[in-house]
Amino acid sequence: MLQDPFDQRRGQMFPKLTDEQIDRLTPLGTRRSMHRGEVLFEQGAQDARFYVILRGALEFVLPGEDGERPIVQIEARQFTGEMSMLARRRSLVRGLAAEDGEVLEMPGDALRTLVQTDSELSELIMRAFILRRVSLIVRGQGDVVLIGSHHCASTLRLKEFLLRNGHPFDYIDVERQADVQHVLERFGVTMRDVPVVICRDTLVLRSPTVQELADTLGYNADLAVTAVRDLIVVGAGPAGLAAAVYAASEGLDVLVLESYAPGGQAGSSSKIENYLGFPTGISGQALAGRAFNQAEKFGASVAVGRSATKLVCERRPYAVELSSGEVVRAKAVVIASGAHYRKLPLSNLSRFEGAGVYYSASEMEAKLCKNEEVIVVGGGNSAGQAAVYLSEVSDTKGAGHIHMLVRGDGLADTMSRYLIRRIEESPRITLHTRTEIEELDGDMHLERVRWRNSRTGEVEVRPIRHVFSMTGAVPNTAWAEHCLARDEKGFLKTGSDLTADDLAAADWPYPRPPSLLETSTPHIFAVGDVRAGSVKRVASAVGEGAVACQLVHRALSDN
Ligand SMILES: Cc1cc2nc3c(=O)[nH]c(=O)nc-3n(C[C@H](O)[C@H](O)[C@H](O)COP(=O)(O)OP(=O)(O)OC[C@H]3O[C@@H](n4cnc5c(N)ncnc54)[C@H](O)[C@@H]3O)c2cc1C
Repeated sequence: MLQDPFDQRRGQMFPKLTDEQIDRLTPLGTRRSMHRGEVLFEQGAQDARFYVILRGALEFVLPGEDGERPIVQIEARQFTGEMSMLARRRSLVRGLAAEDGEVLEMPGDALRTLVQTDSELSELIMRAFILRRVSLIVRGQGDVVLIGSHHCASTLRLKEFLLRNGHPFDYIDVERQADVQHVLERFGVTMRDVPVVICRDTLVLRSPTVQELADTLGYNADLAVTAVRDLIVVGAGPAGLAAAVYAASEGLDVLVLESYAPGGQAGSSSKIENYLGFPTGISGQALAGRAFNQAEKFGASVAVGRSATKLVCERRPYAVELSSGEVVRAKAVVIASGAHYRKLPLSNLSRFEGAGVYYSASEMEAKLCKNEEVIVVGGGNSAGQAAVYLSEVSDTKGAGHIHMLVRGDGLADTMSRYLIRRIEESPRITLHTRTEIEELDGDMHLERVRWRNSRTGEVEVRPIRHVFSMTGAVPNTAWAEHCLARDEKGFLKTGSDLTADDLAAADWPYPRPPSLLETSTPHIFAVGDVRAGSVKRVASAVGEGAVACQLVHRALSDN
């Protein structure tokens, strides 16, 4: 649960620069005067400038129909900006002069160079930017209002997209908010249009796709399609983010493509307890947020809401076609597109996806369960983690009782010992072995589930409204499979796993064999869960991403 840092860490959110620090910044910008009421940057401005207040005061506000809502005022020696600035994204707030005064005005590029080169100022600015973003998220202050219904799968999808991308938003539930009709009328929408996203109080998106929303929020403005990059990374899970951080920090020009949100499967995990250096555990979302900020800090471009739909590997530079129709090119490609859960073989499954059937168990889904009975399907680590998490969150938020359904005779051999122990010891978890769901039933939302025990033939129908499906990983390789050798389950083969036949079929052109993480096509690497034989863990995905960066360096000098 995020805490608002505004009161407790105000000094770090709005630090005052010393004379010596201001002297270091002065050559990077231009001194200029400001006049009370002048707008220095507008909400929605792409790539806004960075200001250090030298004299006078500046106020951050949220513009709206009823006038400006103040957020905070800063004064001499303090500076503007939050995470949008590093990512060249649209400004979430308006900045206007509260008094006459003087500022040091710096272009965004100068700021981005500074955070990569001046470690003292980088730490101070990054911390302030991150805390400011956290405060905006907790307070729901930003440029987005989502109007939706907690029964609606599309609302859940958009809500999750905004949450997992760390984008602050205000949420209005049409079934819970009293004055909703007034809001709908104001924007000329009806209940039938829900979910609706209002951006910057003017733009109205009716049930948008994540790509439309990402574009409207200005996430992908710097997707320079004409440039040939050093490296394209497909997927911003732990493996892809690690590859991006290491490659960008070593000076490579890196573009990361991500269909949905940074973090991948790990981002949907409520608590990762076995990642080195986090003895009390860390949520996948927090880990992903940090890694994403780090990648942005080192200058990697991360395009969100953009799926790779085809890898063109017949000629170099390699090309990747995107869901938006754009094509991007690079000398090397790291495939870190991970895996997703196999869908349950039930005819009406899609009707209940997001409306009772979920593929992750984060705080957002846990809140929907409110002391109810739920089912977790699967016997692997992620299912175990979901069951334990749902059983441990407080009564008002999590599930009342968890039925774990597994097809086999018990939990998977690969499940971590600490999870097995917690499942066995929890009075709130019942393990049903040799049991599979046969039918889902409901109207707008899942209402009943029928399951069968294959050993006894016994059938049970229960009024269960929430199923967490976490079984069987399928690699996300459909967009690249025509180019690259795969194992029998579709995972990408690399290095010494590639046979002579694989290499002959792929026309491997060099006398050297493929390197450790290299696929059957030179300079295309596979890392993390998508790779055949990989250990399906966050730490190993991160490690492989880091190693791939060294191999990319070598490959680029191969050219
Ligand atoms: C609920 C859950 C809990 C877990 N808990 C733990 C744990 O406690 N400890 C642990 O070590 N491991 C845990 N794991 C496993 C761990 O999360 C994975 O091993 C790890 O995330 C793999 O990282 P990855 O980067 O290889 O792939 P992923 O995390 O799968 O990321 C792949 C990314 O690629 C994107 N993508 C896919 N296709 C495309 C495309 N065509 N174009 C663009 N982008 C694309 C996806 O949207 C995704 O963001 C858990 C997994 C789950 C699901």
